[in-house]
Amino acid sequence: MPTINPLLRQLPSVDVLLQQAEHLINQFGRDKTKNALRDMLQNVRNALMRDEQVDIRPQSLLEMAQNLLISQFLPTLRGVINATGVIIHTNLGRAPLSQSAQHAMLAVAGGYSTLEFDTQTGKRGSRHIHAEAVICDITGAEAAMVVNNNAAAVLLMLSALAKEREVILSRGQLVEIGGGFRVPDVMMQSGARLVEVGTTNRTRIADYERAITPQTVALLRIHASNFKQIGFTETASLRQMAKVAHQHHLFLFDDLGSGALIDTTQFGLTHEPTPQESLADGCDVVAFSGDKLLGGPQAGILIGKGDIIAKLKKHPLARAVRSDKLCLAALSATLDEYRRGTALVNIPVLAMLARPLAHITQQAESWASILNSHGVSAQVVSNTSTIGGGSLPGETLPTSAVAISVDKPDDLLAKLRRLPTPIIARIADDQVLFDPRTVLPEQESLFLGQLQQVV
Ligand SMILES: *Cc1c(COP(=O)(O)O)cnc(C)c1O
Repeated sequence: MPTINPLLRQLPSVDVLLQQAEHLINQFGRDKTKNALRDMLQNVRNALMRDEQVDIRPQSLLEMAQNLLISQFLPTLRGVINATGVIIHTNLGRAPLSQSAQHAMLAVAGGYSTLEFDTQTGKRGSRHIHAEAVICDITGAEAAMVVNNNAAAVLLMLSALAKEREVILSRGQLVEIGGGFRVPDVMMQSGARLVEVGTTNRTRIADYERAITPQTVALLRIHASNFKQIGFTETASLRQMAKVAHQHHLFLFDDLGSGALIDTTQFGLTHEPTPQESLADGCDVVAFSGDKLLGGPQAGILIGKGDIIAKLKKHPLARAVRSDKLCLAALSATLDEYRRGTALVNIPVLAMLARPLAHITQQAESWASILNSHGVSAQVVSNTSTIGGGSLPGETLPTSAVAISVDKPDDLLAKLRRLPTPIIARIADDQVLFDPRTVLPEQESLFLGQLQQVV
């Protein structure tokens, strides 16, 4: 018969430990603490029966229970350090917000606000006014509306203006935007009838014109935001489309996808079409995202003529896709950075795009030397950062990354993902790469501290 580990009988009871666990009860509640103590004691008993070494002093037992509780309460949605060099990383939450946007959210988050209250009259106001004036100021639009995201904006636009009518779209623009969502499916949801014209690679203005029937209500342009066509291609320009649409008393809708409020050629990238240009080219309604190149919170923005936007605001779906106060606060503050001319400095997405290579190289060199001084072999390599988020496909920016060579790079990536603040990196040429471009300045010391621990 095996001897029973004598430590088993020395284990304190749940109730005895509970009396010393005031700090855990305060933090996690009595029920959860009690359960954790019970689970911990069971784990310890199992370990002792396997004759494993366990420190059974109360302090140590309480710490084990605390670790259980911490892991139970770890939020699934939490901050990470993005060292991938992908600036608008959809899976990592797209655009990090500016300081001003964060402050604006805080200012309305914990209290009551003027969300739908007019302080002049003391009567009910409209949530739509908050970002509208700023959007109109920047884009030159007559009216604007903010909804939950751009997919919702397109859905609302088509539901309110094209239900049971025909909308003409080029076959080259039948886009899947990611996560399995296809724009044609979103259109079907709205009740609009999709009429495809042209071919995958070529659609002429005459193709649109020929497809117009008495049932037609609009021509639609969807910006090919996440793919690129090269070679034998042809598309009708927005100007041509506007001319044909308006000759036939039809709307011209534009789903811009990302949309950029400033010229992206200043970063050495191709030109991403702007909402301002779409309006100037004659579009009646333009829809774009708040959290792609604009650099704000998740939102969909619709701009156009006053009477059309008014119709959208009155549609029942508008209520279902409306944006909340935190979004409106953050979006207004983000847009104010554009009005003040401080966008390139203060909006993280734009600051990352604008960062000179020399700065990045300097930072990568300083990281490498810190790591080297801790006995980690790291070197600086030339690589590329990407835009991501279904914007500017194939476009890259030259960058300098820190490369660490290990036997099993996948294992290192997995370890980095398990950190309290996970570090997300990538592998190139069997090395693990860290791109300083997308590591936020306030995360740098945490990043280096954690990285040294792991490697
Ligand atoms: C990204 C994108 C959308 C969807 O925008 P969300 O803000 O993610 O809902 C729609 N259309 C195009 C062309 C896009 O690029």
